[in-house]
Amino acid sequence: MSILASQWQAVKTRIHQAEISALRPEDSVRLLAASKSQPPQKLRELYSLGQRVFGENYVQEAIPKIMALSDLDIEWHFIGPIQRNKTNLIAHHFKWVHGLDRLNIAERLNAACNASRLNVLIQVNIDNEPGKQGISPHDAIDFATEISKLPNLNLRGLMTIPRPVENGNNPNFNELRTVFQKLVNKGFKFDTLSMGMSNDFEAAIMSGSTCVRLGTALFGPRS
Ligand SMILES: *Cc1c(COP(=O)(O)O)cnc(C)c1O
Repeated sequence: MSILASQWQAVKTRIHQAEISALRPEDSVRLLAASKSQPPQKLRELYSLGQRVFGENYVQEAIPKIMALSDLDIEWHFIGPIQRNKTNLIAHHFKWVHGLDRLNIAERLNAACNASRLNVLIQVNIDNEPGKQGISPHDAIDFATEISKLPNLNLRGLMTIPRPVENGNNPNFNELRTVFQKLVNKGFKFDTLSMGMSNDFEAAIMSGSTCVRLGTALFGPRS
């Protein structure tokens, strides 16, 4: 088995064990392979093992990879910051966008959709870290209400990138879970909570994550 294959297996096992510890159903957590800086051959190898969801951060880097892998049935997620002048390309090449935090960007994405709706997640700056992407948790209901009015966007839930903590046991995962639940109680039809990266995904699963975004744990350190 290649190193990549054994790392993928190890990660899948850890996700399953975390699901069991959290008393959650098997396969309730999706694994998104955060593949920035990885060459297409590595994505192809992961695909051959069964990986279907890939996340990219930079449009310029992603499009040649998407083209190179167009023979595969990959579900592409855009997980990086969204630039205004890239909204058309993002809407055309990706099925999901994780980092929505500005209404004008959402409107541009909405206008750029043609054939199918774009699945979107609102990014929440859950620990109010200055300068970080994401809306304030206090604005979540108002912002979600505005996004829901855009007919070509399918608002599926929330995403966050909290400041890492020493032992990975990040209280901010529960905070985001609370915001998520509040919105569900308000009537939003959410099914996706995107949180957890290589150093903290098990804690995120304990707090209800349905999508962990893993780079380093799968591919090793980025060069
Ligand atoms: C790179 C990246 C990840 C993966 O990070 P790792 O720590 O390598 O697992 C997850 N989410 C986003 C938004 C990223 O940019």
